[in-house]
Amino acid sequence: MTAANDSTDHPDPIRDPLAEVVARHRQNTSGDVATYIPERATVDADGFGAALVSVHGKVHRAGDADRPFTIQSVSKPFVYAMAVSELGLEEVHRHVGVEPSGEPFNAISLDPDTGRPDNPLINAGAIVTSALVDGSTANERFERVRTFLSACAGRELDLDVEVFASESANGDRNRALAHLARSSGALRRSVDDATEVYFRQCSVIVTTEDLAVMGATLANSGVNPLTKRQVMSERAATITLSIMATCGMYDHSGEWMARVGLPAKSGVGGGIVAVQPAQFGIGVHSPRLDSWGNSVRGSAVLQSLSQDFDLHLFDHPNEPRSPIVSWETDGGVTVGVLRGEFDLISAEAVIELMLEAVAGGSRTIRLDVTGVTRSRTGARHLFQVISRHLEARDIDIVVEGNLD
Ligand code: GLU
Repeated sequence: MTAANDSTDHPDPIRDPLAEVVARHRQNTSGDVATYIPERATVDADGFGAALVSVHGKVHRAGDADRPFTIQSVSKPFVYAMAVSELGLEEVHRHVGVEPSGEPFNAISLDPDTGRPDNPLINAGAIVTSALVDGSTANERFERVRTFLSACAGRELDLDVEVFASESANGDRNRALAHLARSSGALRRSVDDATEVYFRQCSVIVTTEDLAVMGATLANSGVNPLTKRQVMSERAATITLSIMATCGMYDHSGEWMARVGLPAKSGVGGGIVAVQPAQFGIGVHSPRLDSWGNSVRGSAVLQSLSQDFDLHLFDHPNEPRSPIVSWETDGGVTVGVLRGEFDLISAEAVIELMLEAVAGGSRTIRLDVTGVTRSRTGARHLFQVISRHLEARDIDIVVEGNLD
């Protein structure tokens, strides 16, 4: 066997550019490690890693992808997903809103009318959210949170007890936020109980690979792509990604969405998780932070990846993808073959062709949808409306395959 045939010799077309982007930003040592708790000041500021995990479960790593760090605020969207998954959005929404606050993460952002924190990604909202987790003691609730975060990561995650002790010993501001949330009725447990679970959830140890798997779980409608387990409801994944898109990068979230275009969440430990829905999750870590509290090199890596690989969610081709493989009419019978995703714009195109075919004299329309990989509810509805309308006019509509 020649060297070229050796599988270890092939380029990894995802890992290699990821490693290149990490190398490109390695010299950037701007920013400061968070020092809000004494324990943070001891971390190695130079650690720098990235990992990307696709919804197919493929893992690509670069730099110090296996270096452990505490998850901090990156836990917040996941605990929110857990609460929404277990209690439903409406119940969670009674306690915490979904509006960007435009304020720093530890600001006193409570709605003046309802007393609810603006969103679950600022500290007040995150403390209220962890208090929604069921369990009879703080210990039991944290165990449930830890188990959930572990299910998202696809492996057992542990607590950094020293970071937890330091968070707790220096957590007066978070306790003050909890007191305010409690006095307004948003917090449903005692301040000590709620903040204990919150401090612990922030102190869970992860790697960038864990963050990438957790992000890929959100990208994959709540199914962990490694374990294939549905760890949260599909709706919880959708709502969580929406909140990450609007509130995930502290008071820099609008700028982030405009420039990078991926829902993301960062933490003071220097970790960031970013998600390309239906495609992959990315985890990055580098402890030095900018003035908003986001990892400097982590943000730079994601910005570069977004530019280099056209990842911005709102980038789109000029022409919508056509679902129509072929469309032919012969002797009053029209046969159409569809493939890929049957969405609203696909339904619009197909309906137009169906009406044209009928106007041109077709009495039968046969659609082969065996190549359709996903059909959207709205698109199916439009198609059913037009099918019923044509059938009432004695046109035969025959569908081969399943549009559900
Ligand atoms: N444990 C930190 C705090 O609550 C987390 C802050 C963060 O990562 O934004 O202050």
